[in-house]
Amino acid sequence: MNKLADASTLVPEQGGGLAAPPSAEPFYLPAHDEVSLFEQCHHNKLAVMLKGPTGCGKTRFVEHMAWKLQRPLVTISCHDDLTASDLIGRYLIRHDRTVWQDGPLTAAVRAGAICYLDEIVEARQDTVVVLHSLTDYRRTLSIDKTGDVVQAAPGFQLVVSYNPGYQRMLKDLKPSTRQRFVTLDFDFPPPDQEANIVHQESGIAPAQARALVELAHKLRALQDRGLAEVPSTRLLVATAQLITHGISMRRACQVALLAPLSDDAALVGAMTDLVELTF
Ligand code: ADP
Repeated sequence: MNKLADASTLVPEQGGGLAAPPSAEPFYLPAHDEVSLFEQCHHNKLAVMLKGPTGCGKTRFVEHMAWKLQRPLVTISCHDDLTASDLIGRYLIRHDRTVWQDGPLTAAVRAGAICYLDEIVEARQDTVVVLHSLTDYRRTLSIDKTGDVVQAAPGFQLVVSYNPGYQRMLKDLKPSTRQRFVTLDFDFPPPDQEANIVHQESGIAPAQARALVELAHKLRALQDRGLAEVPSTRLLVATAQLITHGISMRRACQVALLAPLSDDAALVGAMTDLVELTF
């Protein structure tokens, strides 16, 4: 007998990655009005795109909003091998039965979770297309393999991140996809705020946090000289954590701030000069 045709053997299983709302508030320092805008999008069932460079606080913002709105959060990192089945689910053979296993997107849709697709531009077009019916008035997900159309539970919200600077020439999002999202622009926070974040996240002294942020601004100016990725708030926090735990300023900057950014000896030399001028 064809097991796929026998409905009694089709046992839905919970997909992985469904986390309860965080119980403690994830620390997030807002830059503008993004918190109230996101809340309005959530209440109006609008999908959101967070646009900005890597390491500037997009993921932390989503974690914070999931806590604030008390929704479970499902995070999916996109890559070019990600298939629609990876998102939606697949049949698995378990002992003598065939079971349907929800993918993380389906689990999020059923649970009314916030589903965060990180770096959406990395996913293949045929994978991105399955999201379309979730972003408009339908709020449905079609599962071709089972023939089901799943209606999103109240509270479900689709959020994607997009770094426009990353591999810009190779990949971009189709306008038909982009126009489905309210787009919030993110960037590195203003200096005082960034120093505050570095201080709070690492426990480093406020004056040292300010010095690190000052250095980051000088390094970010090197983008015009061929630095592909500029130092992010994430790298500053990592550097500060090493300093807090007894690594010297210069050594921490070398391994956590400069080395991750470039292999180009001339550029690393120029950046090292800036570190030595600062500390
Ligand atoms: P992205 O998702 O944009 O790549 P993350 O959200 O992972 O970046 O941010 C990297 C780190 O920077 C966070 O783990 C956090 O320590 C810090 N960070 C950046 N922006 C903020 C902010 N506004 N409030 C609190 N922490 C922040």
